[in-house]
Amino acid sequence: MGEARTVRTTCPYCGVGCGILATPDADGTVSIKGDPDHPANYVRLCSKGSALGETFGLEGRLLEPQIDGRKAGWNEALELVASRFNDAIAEYGPDSVAFYVSGQILTEDYYVANKLMKGYIGSANIDTNSRLCMASSVAGHRRAFGTDTVPGSYEDLEQADLLILVGSNLAWCHPVIYQRIAAAKKARPNMRVVLIDPRATMTASIADTHLAIKPDGDAALFVGLLNHLDEVGAIDTAYVRDHTTGFVDALHAARNWPVEAVAAATGLRPSEIAEFYRRFAATEKVVTVYSQGVNQSSIGTDKVNAIINCHLATGRIGQEGMGPFSVTGQPNAMGGREVGGLANMLACHMDIENPQHRDTVQRFWQSPHVPDKPGLKAVDLFKAVGEGKIKAVWIMATNPVVSLPDADAVEAAIKACPFVVVSDILDTTDTIRHAHVKLPAAGWGEKDGTVTNSERMISRQRGIVPLPGEARPDWWIVTEVARRMGYADAFAFESAADIFREYAQMSAFENDDTRDFDIGALSFIDDDAFDALKPSFWPWKAGADEGATRFFATGGFYTPDRKARMIAVEGVAATRTSTDYPLVLNTGRVRDHWHTMTRTALSPRLSSHIAEPYAELNPADAAELGIAHADLVSVTSVHGDVVVRALISTRQARGSVFVPMHWNDAYASHARIGAAVAPVTDPFSGQPASKHVAARVTRYQPALYGFAVLAERPTKVNASYWALAKANNGWRLEFALDEHTSDPAAFARELFGAGEGAEPLAYHDGRLGHERIALFDGARLLGALFLSPNPVPVSRTSVIGDLGKDFENRQARFRVIAGRPGQDRPDPGAIVCSCFAVGVNQIIEAVQSGRCATVDDIGTALKAGTNCGSCKAEIAEIIATHQLRAGE
Ligand code: SF4
Repeated sequence: MGEARTVRTTCPYCGVGCGILATPDADGTVSIKGDPDHPANYVRLCSKGSALGETFGLEGRLLEPQIDGRKAGWNEALELVASRFNDAIAEYGPDSVAFYVSGQILTEDYYVANKLMKGYIGSANIDTNSRLCMASSVAGHRRAFGTDTVPGSYEDLEQADLLILVGSNLAWCHPVIYQRIAAAKKARPNMRVVLIDPRATMTASIADTHLAIKPDGDAALFVGLLNHLDEVGAIDTAYVRDHTTGFVDALHAARNWPVEAVAAATGLRPSEIAEFYRRFAATEKVVTVYSQGVNQSSIGTDKVNAIINCHLATGRIGQEGMGPFSVTGQPNAMGGREVGGLANMLACHMDIENPQHRDTVQRFWQSPHVPDKPGLKAVDLFKAVGEGKIKAVWIMATNPVVSLPDADAVEAAIKACPFVVVSDILDTTDTIRHAHVKLPAAGWGEKDGTVTNSERMISRQRGIVPLPGEARPDWWIVTEVARRMGYADAFAFESAADIFREYAQMSAFENDDTRDFDIGALSFIDDDAFDALKPSFWPWKAGADEGATRFFATGGFYTPDRKARMIAVEGVAATRTSTDYPLVLNTGRVRDHWHTMTRTALSPRLSSHIAEPYAELNPADAAELGIAHADLVSVTSVHGDVVVRALISTRQARGSVFVPMHWNDAYASHARIGAAVAPVTDPFSGQPASKHVAARVTRYQPALYGFAVLAERPTKVNASYWALAKANNGWRLEFALDEHTSDPAAFARELFGAGEGAEPLAYHDGRLGHERIALFDGARLLGALFLSPNPVPVSRTSVIGDLGKDFENRQARFRVIAGRPGQDRPDPGAIVCSCFAVGVNQIIEAVQSGRCATVDDIGTALKAGTNCGSCKAEIAEIIATHQLRAGE
């Protein structure tokens, strides 16, 4: 047998863009390690990246083209897509069709999709799910810099003396950046970290100061900061004079924000604000990191410009340890931005509104068209689908029925659309079920191309395993459709490398430093060099040895006068709450799931951290609403609702509720929070305000609560509420019933798919109303079911641990339905470290016994936190809480 071949590739999850070493093993599995040479992560990986090996396999895969639910050949499917798009264009015009693409696809995929829509179909109706993630940063960059440029790199975050994190839960959402910052702070204890966030997220564990700001208060905070910087003489007047315009107007607007007004708008104490302002003014090396908490707002673009204004006013940009820094959510959000994946951009950071840029693009492509107006942005695009204006839509590698605001309306729109094409790796998404044509796409680990991370570093994704079934790369699918639409010459690409070369040539075409995005050095890269391409910063101009890491230290902005624009920002967001909907709903990510969890839910390890959708509530709000921990609750807005588990925590500010964005219909009965998010968008970026939705929370009272473990996935769950998650050797299921069941044994048999020969073991507690049933096939546990009038009080970790074991004797079987471990096996509690399955109870015991006082101690004693390190913030929190108790 040949030696295992290790492939260098890039993680498919967040915008950190970590390098990975993947080795396919002889048994069909894939071993995953961090790449020690990749400059984004230098060997580190978070829990999601580390568990990538668990997400290979063909479960749920779409492996053949399908038309109206029947298997079709590629040629038939591609012909149908091309002819239906051509028919719609001929009858209704180019704007009657649309593509909705994704930050999951590679730059080469994006390039051909954008070229087809904008250059050949002649519409700009191509938008990407990155619109939901960082469009406000794009709009803010373009307003300030004239182009969508991230001025610095990750190293700046480590080199800063003051690191400000705004609306950014790095510990969970960009864990390797968090780990890099934690290491930098350990090495330089004088480094200060300020977290600005309504929630005390896990990132608070690294912050010297947490400013628990009101939702959308950050615009006022930074506008007020500009005012303060002027008052204390901290403006870099030379930089402002030489490299910016608009300072006077921006300052005029900022004059409306003395500290008292900022305090009223932010809910912060004047002393907290004054201290933050003082520290910013006094520190030269400042980096302000921001992500979805800033972007996902009706004033997101203004927030971005309020932050950038402060860096421009102090000249703290583009130098070591200085600058505004937007971190992106998706692996290739940046690549999509660069290549024109947004409806209001052209390829290579050119502007659709700029006639010269349109001319440049058209002459480069030699294309029949280039639209002169922006296309429909994501929310408007699906509104147009619902209004019947879009006759054919092609959705690639994304799941808008879960992720878009007003998601039920989006689903209804897709259902009503005359022609829906979905290309995806899975046949099980909430969106693909409505497709007329399903096209099997290549997944991560199967496809080849490039992605760009948050610091402008282009890295290769490479194939690790062969394409399964009839799956094909997205670029191939788009190219084949384009050829059949009549554009064979312009889409003569035979490989991702072909596309990349054209893209690199376009970036340099008539550029002469008039545009930031220039990778002309790679214009004529041959196939072997493309295959071997190392992670590289852009810009990388022809003739340069390597890419540049920073922009704008000495101006040179991409505006007509090469000066940055400072923007007058008002700083006020509309109030949305009302008597009927008094809480602010904030949506976001959890540590171990990704997007609509179509990939991460395949991993038992990742599902062990948080296995159920939840609503996080402040204890005072919960008490007022009569909600206890682990109750079920409805979270309702004017647009829709979800039913999820209550999690009561002082981390959540009063008057607000947090619900994760991930759960879809395959893993929960009613938890697509997108359905409750209002389609309110920022006027400049079109980005939805997914972190500020008016909502109410009510207790949901079922007749019975249930918990089950199952050896096989249930085909159906007859319950009013359920949430399913993978576990080692099976599945775990939380559920609730609106009516008492008269025959729990029959319910269990149906749920477990058990035959007549299955052997039951049952326990009934009439006083407490508990029912417990386990079914065995020989010695094998088919499933165990627990019913209770209250949230089921059994140790999940213990019962899940019984899956896959043999139960020969009756005593051992009784232990299953006891729902708790034997005295020799202490209950580990909810899993904190998913790599080593270390639970919260184990960590508490280690702290309270005096054995461990630091995160490193816990690592030594229990191994927790010593692999990917994603749980270190949680371990620090547990230590902080329980050390106090131990000393009481
Ligand atoms: Fe992947 Fe985690 Fe790195 Fe993000 S931080 S790229 S999810 S390994």
